[in-house]
Amino acid sequence: MAYMNGITCICDNGRTLEDHRPIVGDDVISGIYRKAASLRGKRVLHVNSTYQSGGVAEMIISLVPLMNDVGIDTQWNILSGDADFFTITKNFHNALQGQAIAFSNEEMGLYLRTNESFSGQMAIDHDLVVIHDPQPLPLIRFYRKTQPWVWRCHVDLSNPDPALWEFLKGFVLDYDRMVISHEGYRRRGMSMEQWICRPAIDPLSDKNRDLAPEEIAGLLANYGVPTDKPLITQISRFDKWKDPVGVVDVFREVKRHVDCRLVLCGSMAPDDPEGWAIYRQVEDAAREFIDAGDVILITAEDHLLVNALQRASAIILQKSLREGFGLTVTEGLWKGRPVVASRVGGIPLQIEDGETGFLLDPTDTEGFAWRVRQILENPDLGERLGRAGKEYVRQHFLITRLLSDYLDMLNAELTDWDNT
Ligand code: UDP
Repeated sequence: MAYMNGITCICDNGRTLEDHRPIVGDDVISGIYRKAASLRGKRVLHVNSTYQSGGVAEMIISLVPLMNDVGIDTQWNILSGDADFFTITKNFHNALQGQAIAFSNEEMGLYLRTNESFSGQMAIDHDLVVIHDPQPLPLIRFYRKTQPWVWRCHVDLSNPDPALWEFLKGFVLDYDRMVISHEGYRRRGMSMEQWICRPAIDPLSDKNRDLAPEEIAGLLANYGVPTDKPLITQISRFDKWKDPVGVVDVFREVKRHVDCRLVLCGSMAPDDPEGWAIYRQVEDAAREFIDAGDVILITAEDHLLVNALQRASAIILQKSLREGFGLTVTEGLWKGRPVVASRVGGIPLQIEDGETGFLLDPTDTEGFAWRVRQILENPDLGERLGRAGKEYVRQHFLITRLLSDYLDMLNAELTDWDNT
């Protein structure tokens, strides 16, 4: 569905805005057409550093075809870099989320050189540029700026490493607007607008579309996931912030009382060099359960499988220690499944505790296990939470709302630019 043509990711999924009408209704669709009318023919460029795995790529992949469908000529380019570059930017990610990491001048040099060298491959003559996350942030330094530039940061910025933030801030200040997912990620001392835009999911993608029971059964069988016991699932990259080892601890506690099975599904992103090390830690922690077939680890990148797992699960867990927004929570709620998750980052924006799911302190293993047991032992409770969660997502976190927000942003930025 998405493939690379040089540095450009082609992601025409064949879907149009009209396809969303039955899900979100006439008012939402006509509102979008109204906002897009003044933007027809404008050219927009998105740049990030991977076209697969992870929430950022997931959103851009659905947003770009819809932007094109409403008349905005939208291109998506992928910054390339070597393994050292991605190790550094992965550490940036960790340090922005609060881990203390020192960076050497050589590392900063490689970061800048990678951006400079990529700028040699990418001409920019668009009406607006959206740069996603820290990897391509310094690109702005290597162009003559003839249009508004927006930095869309998907990371939890509530407590970044101060030295790294000072370094990155120097680039951010060159931008016209910074976009964040949460009020708590605002940074002080920034001259430009810091605009909050919640992420969203595409209800028609393979990840989220309706699946027939036979399709679900076939997908689970292909990946060797039996359904003879209730499934508890966490879909997440093997990443320390997603706390997969903590999920195994919760499972161990639940399993003392209720027979069930845990699936941890996390594909390995090319820009995530830490994944396999974390995977092995999980393997060690869950050894006895893996041998008994009660913990299943999956590293495949298969959106239909994620969809099937979410639909087949009795409970979706998201025990993150930090979380920018948590699209896996949105996806789980959209499937009408009860979600038990950490009260961190963007997750509380999606779950009202006891109404659309359960929220817990991320270190509260006992509490997680208790909520999981409660749902396993009361299927009506799970049904009620799931129904309410799905409706909440329909109203707030579908891709049509994200598109509408982008149109607002484009209208505002292009008007400002014309007036300066
Ligand atoms: N994802 C996936 N396969 C996996 C693990 C994750 O497709 O094995 C997807 C997941 O469904 C979601 C995204 O990657 O769409 C993760 O986004 P989220 O905001 O939850 O976390 P991030 O990875 O961006 O920190």
